[in-house]
Amino acid sequence: MTEHKRRYSPPPWAFQFHGHVCPFMPLGYRMGVLALEKLGVSHEKDHTLHVVCELGEGHPQTCLMDGIQIATGATFGKTLMEKTYWGKLAATFWYPHKTPVRYSLKPEFLKEMGQFEFFTYRKKGIEPSGIPEAVTQEVIEWGVSLPDDKIYTAAERPDFHYQPPKGSFASAICTGCGELVFERYVRMKDGKPYCIPCSGYKG
Ligand SMILES: [Zn+2]
Ligand SMILES: [Zn+2]
Repeated sequence: MTEHKRRYSPPPWAFQFHGHVCPFMPLGYRMGVLALEKLGVSHEKDHTLHVVCELGEGHPQTCLMDGIQIATGATFGKTLMEKTYWGKLAATFWYPHKTPVRYSLKPEFLKEMGQFEFFTYRKKGIEPSGIPEAVTQEVIEWGVSLPDDKIYTAAERPDFHYQPPKGSFASAICTGCGELVFERYVRMKDGKPYCIPCSGYKG
């Protein structure tokens, strides 16, 4: 395996975690690798790096986001990843005291990618796990073989601001259901604490 291929290929466990083999998870992984390098930071151990993905839902390229999480450690569970629901194949990577950087997939690249047989299957409604492995590998390997600037546009975003929420362990017991609810989400009704669903409030 060449150094280039090693750098940009997600580890086998990444495909297990993701559930199937597809071309978009590896493209997200590579985006994450590039973003860490550009910011000059390493894989996030705790809660600092933040990624704002511009993807939406109901389009299969959202697999990108699993790759981004795997490469960067900025995971949904650590609340380090959020989505704008703009339906765009782009993400901005933010780290304190660094210039944020946005990566997007080039339309020309996507157009060329769409010619691969993999997408003939996808357009017939066949899920990635049902597509012959050789067909999937063909498009993945084509992507890996390309230089970064054939796939991504990278742009610094000094205008991008993000304010991490203040962490707090304070909580209350909901008067309605008796379950624990963290302070930020406690809603007061007749002077008593409630969780959001029990309060009847929308948020
Ligand atoms: Zn996928
Ligand atoms: Zn409740």
